[in-house]
Amino acid sequence: MSPVTVWETLVGQEAVVATLRAAAVAASPGILAAAGSGGGPAGARSGMTHSWLFTGPSGAGRQEAARAFAAGLNCEREPPGCGECAGCHTVLTDTATDLRTVTPEGLSLGVKDVRALVRDAASAPTAGRWRILLLTDADRLTEAAANALLKALEEPAERAVFLLCAPSIEDVLPTIRSRCRTVALRLPSAADVRDMLLREGIDEQVAQTAARASQGHLALARRLATDEAAREHRAAVLRIPGRLGRVGDCLAAAADLVGAANADAEAANAERDEVETEALKTALGVGATATGGKSRSARAPKAGAKARSMVVRGAAGALKELERTQKSRGRRTILDSLDRALVDLAGLYRDVLAEQLGAPVDPIHADHAAEAAGLAAASTPEQTLRRLEAVLATRAALADNPGLVPLLAVESLTLALRDG
Ligand SMILES: [Zn+2]
Repeated sequence: MSPVTVWETLVGQEAVVATLRAAAVAASPGILAAAGSGGGPAGARSGMTHSWLFTGPSGAGRQEAARAFAAGLNCEREPPGCGECAGCHTVLTDTATDLRTVTPEGLSLGVKDVRALVRDAASAPTAGRWRILLLTDADRLTEAAANALLKALEEPAERAVFLLCAPSIEDVLPTIRSRCRTVALRLPSAADVRDMLLREGIDEQVAQTAARASQGHLALARRLATDEAAREHRAAVLRIPGRLGRVGDCLAAAADLVGAANADAEAANAERDEVETEALKTALGVGATATGGKSRSARAPKAGAKARSMVVRGAAGALKELERTQKSRGRRTILDSLDRALVDLAGLYRDVLAEQLGAPVDPIHADHAAEAAGLAAASTPEQTLRRLEAVLATRAALADNPGLVPLLAVESLTLALRDG
């Protein structure tokens, strides 16, 4: 295969690529040397900025764009972003010593993580030219975390670059976004996504269907194209509107939907949770290594017992904190999975509406045209519109209310879909 530059991996983002490539070129050593030395932070004259904010819809590739830029900044070749050199390779595989990626474990990104990031930003790069701090979910910063970050953005270290990712600029505090140069990704078109899948060796028909059904979400398109379980999950979601006869059916459908999301979360997190818990227990000296503590306390019974009880109390606290983190991460996975299901349902009602109005648009769920046709024949456009709105309202409610019980929200949705 011919070498692929980091820019070519960004799907359907020509404008973004042009911006990032120009900035990486402007920040490359040859240009900086030509611009002369002395005075001002490096790269200031060439348009290089210390803080960037990558925005765009979920699945459009915000993180991928930030990572490609990071690779371009620390690429060892000209033009930057070759995708092959050690500078590019270590960034793309997240093994670069000068790249620190911070991703929230749960629903929010706390001040502890951001302080560590800010400390890291103050040290000089070791291998590459820039110390790069990548914050994958800047919209999930707590207030304290945002304030800690703001200080670092106001007085950035000379060789530090902050790359923040968030769905939209409204999701980031004005004080933070005013310090950043914004890079807005667009939703990749179905044709862009299809071409990506074709390049990755997917069969044409499968690529076409997955590209449309993913509605511009790259990772989902790949899953739909390669994973039978993902296709079945989506099919089960799209069958829901057709099975809402009685109240009991609505409740059962809601339970299935939330159950599938729970199973998704379980599958995604179970193994990692267990490994983390075991590692923490080992590090704390509880469980496997507890016998060592016992023999020491046998030598000096009183003092040993006291120290041991302190260790046990500390360990219990640390384990509790880990448990909280894991719970929060689990909830996030459940919500992400449910959100995907709701996007699929909204797409189906959009197909139904298009059918009812005779609108000349390509269906989102072309492989489920029978479901859409059945619903179109059995309802009015007004009903479809109300149902579509109910789905979108549930999406917003789940996203905005951390305390909302998913099952209750989905039950009221399935009832509304039946009665709407
Ligand atoms: Zn390179």
